Amino acid sequence: MGGGTAGWMAANLFANKWADKNVHVTLVESPEIGIVGVGEGSTPTLKRFFEMLNISESQWMPQCNATYKVNIRFAGWSPKSGIEDYSHPFICQTDTFTQKSFFVNCRTRRLGLDTNVNPEEFLLNGVLAKQVKGPLAPEHFPMIMEYGYHFDSYLLGQFLAQHAETLDVEHIQAKVSSVKQHANGDIAALITENGDEIDADFFVDCSGFASVLMQKTLNVKFNSFKQNLFNDSAVVMPTPMQDVIPVETRATALSNGWAWKIPLTNRFGNGYVYSSDFINQDQAETELRRHIGTENDPESCRHLKMRVGQLEKHWANNCLGLGLSQGFIEPLEATALHLVQVCIEMFMGDFEKGQFSHRHQAEFNQKIAERFERVRDYIVAHYKVNTRDDSDYWRANRDNTHLSESLIQILNVWYKREDLGAEIDRQKLNTHFDTISWHCLLAGYGAFPPIANNQPGTGDHFIENGIEEFNRRCSLNFSSHQHNLDSLK
Ligand SMILES: Cc1cc2nc3c(=O)[nH]c(=O)nc-3n(C[C@H](O)[C@H](O)[C@H](O)COP(=O)(O)OP(=O)(O)OC[C@H]3O[C@@H](n4cnc5c(N)ncnc54)[C@H](O)[C@@H]3O)c2cc1C
Repeated sequence: MGGGTAGWMAANLFANKWADKNVHVTLVESPEIGIVGVGEGSTPTLKRFFEMLNISESQWMPQCNATYKVNIRFAGWSPKSGIEDYSHPFICQTDTFTQKSFFVNCRTRRLGLDTNVNPEEFLLNGVLAKQVKGPLAPEHFPMIMEYGYHFDSYLLGQFLAQHAETLDVEHIQAKVSSVKQHANGDIAALITENGDEIDADFFVDCSGFASVLMQKTLNVKFNSFKQNLFNDSAVVMPTPMQDVIPVETRATALSNGWAWKIPLTNRFGNGYVYSSDFINQDQAETELRRHIGTENDPESCRHLKMRVGQLEKHWANNCLGLGLSQGFIEPLEATALHLVQVCIEMFMGDFEKGQFSHRHQAEFNQKIAERFERVRDYIVAHYKVNTRDDSDYWRANRDNTHLSESLIQILNVWYKREDLGAEIDRQKLNTHFDTISWHCLLAGYGAFPPIANNQPGTGDHFIENGIEEFNRRCSLNFSSHQHNLDSLK
């Protein structure tokens, strides 16, 4: 149920995987209700989604005004000079040669010695982002590149709907007005406004924040993350594309939240994510307009509310919650569709392993809850370590003591100058945000003690291991982002 990105991703993957198992997939959606229509940035996981469906980039990207994404640039998150912005690049294979030097330098810097700890200079995608080069490597380049995408979510929905048709997914456009249940609580059928009954053995709730099946029908409890993450609203407005299309998302900290700037081939998507406890809708809109230079633009902005948290169970009875209906961890780092895809993949594995029974339901629920929590922690860290002093919002985030044990441990290890990689391994966090992402965040933010007076003048692995030259030479293999985009046509 639901034809947003979550619904169409699930319908395609189920129909594709279980084509030979006599599984029939029906997707029902209400055009009247529509989709949330934001969510235009991905992680590299989305590449795997298209690969699983055998869809090439030249098939889908031009149709969805999509661009490549190799990096997220965080601007204005720290007022300290010299770190006005920092990068969180997607990690690729060349980084295995440089990441150790980055870790060593971060540890040396934590001890007070002056070393280069700028993530984008160590990691190839950071270098490409700065040069506005695309991530498509020529065949003779021996390393595997990782990257994500930016895309128009309405167009992606349309594209996936068309593709689902080729996989025999039945598409019904109707509003579901009630739900029929069996005596044991399982869902029996969805009843549409015009009285049609859509019955099935298994249901997938992709109804967005409404969570019609999981919350409203099966009464699955929703655990809010509001204490950890204050942002609950967003205001959105597009702006025209500039001459050169960036190959990165820009996330700029503003007075009471942050603004995204996502480049598509035809426009920028912009939005300000903020906490309504600190500013109201009008103030947020005024600030966004000032930030993107649209103060005099008669076009109106879209305002959205966000429900941040997760369901207590992601699979209950004969229903799987997916997408915004199962939970949401605000869009910093663009993890929502990544979580959707991971959930679909894990569900398909566990459902099939249990011969399409509930045998692995508890295990699945535990794995997904853990995913949500660890992704949440990484996002919370962006707020917790901030040193901005320009609003109550930033001070309240810094003073927030609602942190998970896992996050407290990570920050302790960092500030005590211990081995962060060993701690990430100990907590088995590598499948969430791994050691390098934590280093990008904490080093990028400048979470270091002051530089000591007596510097040895040696021990900077960036210089001693020739990292700048290595990445410069690697980058010579890549062409401009525009060239990559043109090659798709
Ligand atoms: C401000 C913001 C920014 C975001 N940025 C990102 C990002 O950069 N990257 C990212 O990965 N994700 C992002 N997300 C999340 C992303 O938008 C969603 O994960 C994604 O769009 C999937 O949404 P969905 O399909 O779950 O829900 P929706 O798009 O809301 O779709 C819900 C569907 O359910 C249907 N429906 C609901 N009720 C009924 C009913 N009664 N009868 C029939 N049909 C019904 C609707 O018609 C619709 O088709 C962002 C979200 C927000 C709020």
